[in-house]
Amino acid sequence: MNLPDKWVIASSNDGKLREFREMLGGSGIEFVTQGELGVGDADETGLTFVENALLKARKAARETGMPALGDDSGLCVDALAGAPGLYSARYAGSHGNADANIDKLLDALKDVPDEQRSAHFHAVIVLLRHAGDPQPLIAEGTWSGRILHARRGNGGFGYDPVFFDPRLGKGAAELDTELKNRISHRGRALAALQKLLGDATR
Ligand code: IMP
Repeated sequence: MNLPDKWVIASSNDGKLREFREMLGGSGIEFVTQGELGVGDADETGLTFVENALLKARKAARETGMPALGDDSGLCVDALAGAPGLYSARYAGSHGNADANIDKLLDALKDVPDEQRSAHFHAVIVLLRHAGDPQPLIAEGTWSGRILHARRGNGGFGYDPVFFDPRLGKGAAELDTELKNRISHRGRALAALQKLLGDATR
């Protein structure tokens, strides 16, 4: 696979840019966010994480002419049939209000006992070589745990304060960033993407 050495990340989020740079930095590829290039956010109208990641990457690739990485992620709670899922960021209405999202989640689960509070984060990262690429690379990662009854820890973002990893015996908001990035859904998806890229360039 012969690719230009400058790729656009279909996000304006500096945290994601940092993660992509750290994980894929050794490859000699230069990453820029779509925000730096004046590309606006895509409408997330897909019905799956994969569709939304592709919508984001396709818009960025079309508007910049560069290979594009798109990602989508969310929290899926078994007792809520996978909700908030695709709508994790806007669960409580206003986009990105993490505190309101957590309050709504805790309320929805208030009568649910521990053994039925299983949940997982899921992340998808896609690479489109160009806007019309019929064969995108699709990498996925999952992080399993359960939903706490109350907030715990001061780190992380989004639903981290109420997500508990039983193997570590810690909440996501209690983990240091380096550990979280390694074991999280996004870390696993990035590792899977690294492998797909290795296979594709071999
Ligand atoms: P997006 O992937 O940027 O569209 O956002 C997905 C939403 O899922 C975020 O706004 C958070 O609410 C939630 N989310 C995704 N990954 C995490 C995580 O690692 N910790 C906590 N919340 C997350």
